[in-house]
Amino acid sequence: MDSPDDLVFVSRRRRPIPASVIKIAFGRSANRCAFPECPPVMLDNGVPLLEIAYISSMVAGGPRYSHSLTRAGGDSADNIIILCPTHHRLVDKNPEIFTAEELIKIRGVHYERVQRALSTEQKRTTSNRLADLLEVWNQKRATGDEEYWQQLFSDHPEAFSLALEGRAYTLSSKCYVGGKSVANTGGNVLDFLAQHSGNVAIVEIKTPTTKLLAPQKYRGNVYAPSRELAGSTVQALEYRHGLITNLPALAFETPGLRATQPMGVVIIGDLEKEEMGEDGRRSFELYRSSFRDLKIMTYDELFGGIQMLVNILRD
Ligand SMILES: [Zn+2]
Repeated sequence: MDSPDDLVFVSRRRRPIPASVIKIAFGRSANRCAFPECPPVMLDNGVPLLEIAYISSMVAGGPRYSHSLTRAGGDSADNIIILCPTHHRLVDKNPEIFTAEELIKIRGVHYERVQRALSTEQKRTTSNRLADLLEVWNQKRATGDEEYWQQLFSDHPEAFSLALEGRAYTLSSKCYVGGKSVANTGGNVLDFLAQHSGNVAIVEIKTPTTKLLAPQKYRGNVYAPSRELAGSTVQALEYRHGLITNLPALAFETPGLRATQPMGVVIIGDLEKEEMGEDGRRSFELYRSSFRDLKIMTYDELFGGIQMLVNILRD
């Protein structure tokens, strides 16, 4: 986007309009004439041909002259509408049709249109990032390298947006909030908490190839969790316990701090790929539903949720 200084505009007044006001006006109008469907007119060098028009003139006899307008009010972004030269001439020659109220209405509709376009754009960007992530999942599903998945989730914190119910979270000494990575000097979770009041999760990452159940039946139709699943579960609980133990001291230093129910999360295994049969599946579900402050989520569940989100965003 061009800076407002590059834009061509004609002002009938000699006094310059403050640069900040020009930036606001051009920014809100997205470098387009406020008239609906007015095609952008560009100069040969690609600079849009636009003008700054006053909604109410400060000069007696000028279009839509308002005697009550102060100097500051006249020069504010509220009194400015961005128009192409054709529409500028049209509104200034017909002030009885294009009254101040009418121009404010036209401008309002235009600003709303710009806002809608921008939020659609943002949605598309998010869904593209998530779609990239799904592509990686489809290709690397069989990758058993723990560091690979750690790195992937570090690069794509938005992957947890569904799983963690909006909590800030920590992942191998890095901290994340609102799907974004945040600087956390020293990687201290407590420092992080102090800066981001709100509930948190501690995420433990294994791999999709990590087995969920022990290879042999335990007894009858009962299966035990794999050593990796049991180990990472206890690890996450241990981390959570450490956090809670340290909270009183931290809350003393940081009034208003909230971390009443920090949650442990373990991302592990692939239910679709692991052959566990009905008995095995029941043992696994009984095991993971027995925790109160810990969530065990498999990779296929995590990416299944992302797939759903992508579908919603694309609708
Ligand atoms: Zn126009």
